[in-house]
Amino acid sequence: MKGKHIWKKCLVFDLCCICLLFLMAATGTGKGAEMKRGLEAAARRLEEVRQASNPAKEERASTEKKKIALTFDDGPNPQYTPEMLAALKERNVKATFFLLGQEVEKYPEIVKQIQEEGHLIGNHSYKHEQLSKLPMEQACSQVSRTNELIYGITGIYPSYLRPPFGDWHEKLDCEVNMVEVLWDVDTLDWSSQNHARIVQKVLKNVQENDIILMHDGYETSVTAAKEIIDTLQKQGYEFVTVDQLLFE
Ligand SMILES: [Zn+2]
Repeated sequence: MKGKHIWKKCLVFDLCCICLLFLMAATGTGKGAEMKRGLEAAARRLEEVRQASNPAKEERASTEKKKIALTFDDGPNPQYTPEMLAALKERNVKATFFLLGQEVEKYPEIVKQIQEEGHLIGNHSYKHEQLSKLPMEQACSQVSRTNELIYGITGIYPSYLRPPFGDWHEKLDCEVNMVEVLWDVDTLDWSSQNHARIVQKVLKNVQENDIILMHDGYETSVTAAKEIIDTLQKQGYEFVTVDQLLFE
């Protein structure tokens, strides 16, 4: 807004100059060629001011935030999910939680809290089995049973499914209305449980519109998530839920 205001002032000044020059030329108070040069210079100056106050498209685009999505699998966890939720709230960040049906059954109040704090809830099957290795009926029930459990608490059927191990059952046609969500950056936080390694894994590899895979079941994942968020927010990233990343 500041730039616009300055441009308007300069515009008025330059328009006055141009008018004055026209007047001088018309009343014959100067030499014709000199007047023409003066008019041209004023017009150039006007154009320069106009361009300076109207930044190029690329420049404007760079001020827009780059989107990124944090996703947490295997929860809810009675200790670390609330810690993660507190860290996210403090930083005004929305994330996506892919929940296991068997944990949803145990900790319904945390599921409710995830929803109330504005995060997106997805389905991560009932008990983390590899869906492609199961008979069709069982694979379907891993998904549908978890959907029902989440619906029973939140009143909303999940639309997003992250199959355990990222392994989708090719012929799983019972949940065709769900969107499968995999990831771009795998932190392997469950394996390393090493704060620095998790942070480095993300900061080294991350790009705009990436989906980051983490787990809200470890202290190191909570501390790493805090540092990842603080660092990337400073770099102009905005953390959004998976649906916002994919469809907005
Ligand atoms: Zn998992």
